[in-house]
Amino acid sequence: MSNESFDFSGLTGLSGQPGGLPGLPDESVLQELANQFFQAPPVPQGVAGTVPSSVAGSGISPSAVNQGNGVDINDPQTSLPDPHFAGTGHVPSSVAGSGKSPSAPYADAGQTKGGARSAGTSGGVSAPSYPGFAGAQGFTGIPGSAGTPGFASVPGYYFITDKNPFVKSVPAHPAGAALASAPYDVNKVRRDFPILQQYVNGRPLIWLDNAATTQKPRSVIDRVSQFYERENSNIHRAAHELAARATDAYEGAREKVRRFLNAASPNEIVFVRGATEAINLVAKSWGDQFLQPGDEIIVSHLEHHANIVPWQQLAKAKNLKLKVIPVDDQGQVLLDAYGALLSSKTKLVSFTQVSNALGTITPAQKMVAMAHAVGAKTLVDGAQAVSHMPVDVTALDCDWYVFSGHKVFGPTGIGVLYGKEDLLNETQPWQGGGNMIRDVTFEHTTYHNAPGRFEAGTGNIADAVGLGAAIDYVTAIGMPLISQYEHYLLEYASRLLTGVPGLRIIGTAADKAGVLSFILDGYKTEEVGAALNQWGIAVRSGHHCAQPILRRFGQESTVRPSLALYNTCGDIDALVAVLHRLSSNK
Ligand code: PMP
Repeated sequence: MSNESFDFSGLTGLSGQPGGLPGLPDESVLQELANQFFQAPPVPQGVAGTVPSSVAGSGISPSAVNQGNGVDINDPQTSLPDPHFAGTGHVPSSVAGSGKSPSAPYADAGQTKGGARSAGTSGGVSAPSYPGFAGAQGFTGIPGSAGTPGFASVPGYYFITDKNPFVKSVPAHPAGAALASAPYDVNKVRRDFPILQQYVNGRPLIWLDNAATTQKPRSVIDRVSQFYERENSNIHRAAHELAARATDAYEGAREKVRRFLNAASPNEIVFVRGATEAINLVAKSWGDQFLQPGDEIIVSHLEHHANIVPWQQLAKAKNLKLKVIPVDDQGQVLLDAYGALLSSKTKLVSFTQVSNALGTITPAQKMVAMAHAVGAKTLVDGAQAVSHMPVDVTALDCDWYVFSGHKVFGPTGIGVLYGKEDLLNETQPWQGGGNMIRDVTFEHTTYHNAPGRFEAGTGNIADAVGLGAAIDYVTAIGMPLISQYEHYLLEYASRLLTGVPGLRIIGTAADKAGVLSFILDGYKTEEVGAALNQWGIAVRSGHHCAQPILRRFGQESTVRPSLALYNTCGDIDALVAVLHRLSSNK
């Protein structure tokens, strides 16, 4: 089916279809699904009553991450003090019993479109509504359906009532305190991201293209503006106040990155444009200096092109051999096969910590140790890891670690190469110019140690400072908490996607983060992407700059929703609803 012939008309005007749409699961099916997912535990002491069916099938859990208050983080049912209302001490009456998904964007925040208050139950203009299930499956405000303007009172897939024994007051986040023991308030997080407050194609934007880039919190946007308003200067070289401010801000950001990665010294943190540039830097400096014909470089089958092409270019230029670690049918690297590839000829193993195409989390620490055992260096591509999980380069013991600021809520055009200090200092620079030199004559130049030797010219100062603000942002919430929340969300999404007839998830490793690649029978991936876009849902469709791994699974292209800390069950519900609709059209 070509793009031109795809008929979107079926996706609108769902009104007047009593009893749900053809091909869509009914409420009992969804509830059974949710009950499987949120297997009801024994009711904890002091919590009266049984799990109401409306809650058992609520799909609430991902937002209900709560490591404190005597509830078990592994037990979403018992941790149901509703995180969306954390700190308020009660369920707002406008929400209680409304059946409105607690994850429904804008539902309780009164965000505006063009200055008008969104409808909810409190009047004002009608909020755009999601496509999908007529009736009880969690999509309120089906266009044109009687009595359901905006986020109206159709019984919800999430059903929060004040009789719900799991809805109880929880303390607010103590600002700046260790938040790992606090509940995760996704609506509070969402309000920090201005871009999420907008409508796209008449619907609230649902951003599920986080593996491509993440959105920026207000604090990052403001920090970059503040830099240009109050601090802007070139760094290190001038003898005036603004140069001092700019240098402090830039070097302060370096220290934030050091702490974020748990590196030993800020000298190990080199600012670059992004993960791609960081990998090229290592290939063109260390690789060119130290590798000899016949040496071997190993990458995994999962790699992004950024972690293939620079090594291929180097291999061609220097007559090296590039070897590939295979993956199993779930998309996890095969450690035995990897072990068999390693030898004294192996000089470098360069691999991703999280696959951008499948979401696989590789056993990075083990892979590094195996490489070191044969004397090889290791580069870990953390582009898809840093926003999803705590990273500790000291524990990983990798020789280099790379990531891009824009994938962790920071600006584009700034990224990081971490390298062990001695290794960086014994490596030749890859670019020459100002900033990186100790002394220059026409005969000879001596270079600074790291990081200066790899930061020739004027860097992206403001965006480095912005990256520092992004790190402050995720650190204040707590990477362990973010990771836990996203894990629930991923499980929830995986379960619901599996229920869409004709949908096949590509990449089903036991350890995954943030990414749900799939194909849908009867549709090109770009058609699915375009259909979702009609509903304000942004996903990536294509090869994701990882053609080898998609081809390993017989695909040239997949649809790839990818998650971040501001996504909700409601986002997933909306996605799945459109997919059910597409599926039922075939
Ligand atoms: N590695 C991985 C795993 C990625 O996902 C990406 C970006 N999609 C990159 C490297 C390259 O990142 P950038 O384009 O920001 O340099």
